[in-house]
Amino acid sequence: MARYKTLYNQERIHLATGGLNIKRWSKFVWACTVTPRHAFIMWMTMHDKLPVKSKLVRFTDKIEDQTCVLCNAEAEDVDHLLFQCIWAKAMWQAIRNGWPIPLDISGKATFARSLIKLRKSKDEKQITYSIVAAVIYNIWRARNK
Ligand SMILES: [Zn+2]
Repeated sequence: MARYKTLYNQERIHLATGGLNIKRWSKFVWACTVTPRHAFIMWMTMHDKLPVKSKLVRFTDKIEDQTCVLCNAEAEDVDHLLFQCIWAKAMWQAIRNGWPIPLDISGKATFARSLIKLRKSKDEKQITYSIVAAVIYNIWRARNK
């Protein structure tokens, strides 16, 4: 039973991350330079566990307004909140102005794939992993204020 549950969870994670293997993306979630609280939010993001409104509405009928709290324009899901929201895009752009990161931030799956394929030195990768985890953490934090 435990083996079945493990396989079931691996498949769920595989699907939640757009077909990405957990071993491939865990290296940037748990990189030694990433602040633990940032890593935790990144881990929740990659496991599709971030409690965004589109997810919460499945468990409660108290979520009447599914609109993103940052832009008040579109429905709040992970792809919108962290990558497509005008507020998130501005934050990513501000970071890119200081640290040019060749990442596809159009959505979570493309973001993870481009982080896995990142062609930088080991040190630059560690810095990049820290920066992107901090960006995601701070978008999530702003959303919850
Ligand atoms: Zn938004």
